[in-house]
Amino acid sequence: MLQMLKKFVETESPSEEKELVNRMGALVAEECLRLGAALETFPNPSRGDHLVARWNASAPGKPILLMHHMDTVFPAGTIETMPFRTDSQKTYGPGVLDMKGGIVISLAAIAALQEAGQFTRPVTALFTSDEEVGSGTSRGLIERLAAQASLVLVLESGLVDGSLKTWRKGVGDFRVAVHGRAAHSGGEHEKGRNAIRELAKQILEIETWSDYARGTTVNVGVVRGGTAENVVPAFAEARGDIRVTQPAEAERILASLFALQPAFADTRLEVRAEMNRPAMPQDDLMLATFAKARQIAAGIGQDLKAGGSGGASDANFVSPLGVPVLDGLGSAGADYHSEREWIYTDSLAERAALIAALLREWDD
Ligand SMILES: [Zn+2]
Repeated sequence: MLQMLKKFVETESPSEEKELVNRMGALVAEECLRLGAALETFPNPSRGDHLVARWNASAPGKPILLMHHMDTVFPAGTIETMPFRTDSQKTYGPGVLDMKGGIVISLAAIAALQEAGQFTRPVTALFTSDEEVGSGTSRGLIERLAAQASLVLVLESGLVDGSLKTWRKGVGDFRVAVHGRAAHSGGEHEKGRNAIRELAKQILEIETWSDYARGTTVNVGVVRGGTAENVVPAFAEARGDIRVTQPAEAERILASLFALQPAFADTRLEVRAEMNRPAMPQDDLMLATFAKARQIAAGIGQDLKAGGSGGASDANFVSPLGVPVLDGLGSAGADYHSEREWIYTDSLAERAALIAALLREWDD
């Protein structure tokens, strides 16, 4: 597993670089074919191609879908300053946690089941190219494959203690622009309509909408406006981020944004806001799915724990479909998206055993 992980990590695959992601795709395709998969490539004009590998497609029942992304946030050349390396407990390198380790885990689980003659159920594995940049070109494929599955397993990293992610916040963004009227600050100040003053009022309102008890945050993260000290600013804008645990909270925040009204005369607001990934709440279906997985894990001596994350993943797209989904099944580690990114090396084999058990024993 470490050998394969080294090869994957050293084949850098930043989302923005189509050809590099495709090089990683070629390695994944080769491994899947070696394991006897039927492989389908989804050519992608803007990003790297997506891959779908299928096993035992004619066996009865709906497939279990294993979901992975092949892209990383690390620009090409990062490997020079952040080489793949291991010490007594940990393995380091760009994308080792997010989520090249996860790809290795799925492939090892399938190989082990095949060797044991226990790989009989239909299994589909999806490898996408653009998760780190919002999954714009893969969302349709994710939703289509997930809707056909009996269970979706997402190989994003687990928490540092190995907990799965049984809830994830939904993520949205917004922009509130204010149009005022410019004027000379000395000669004709009264003719101006200060867009920054108007925006300041709006920001104070927006910042009251966070509700920590419900897991909702609204964050104004960027402001911009004005042209010079001696000009009444005609334009200002605020941009920010919305995070919700409950789908209804997304509705509340979006409705509040679109209902904003100017506080001062003769200014105009322009609001754009949308959720990019819906919330994955820890609802009844999630609790039941986790309980079943926990029981299967106990059968191989693993004590599976549940946790969550304020960050979103492709699992968020599966949640609204009402299909059982478990996320965070990849390796355990921390410091993802940073130069310190690492995994517990032992978690590769532990997780492969868990995935193998889930593929072998899950009944639907
Ligand atoms: Zn990821």
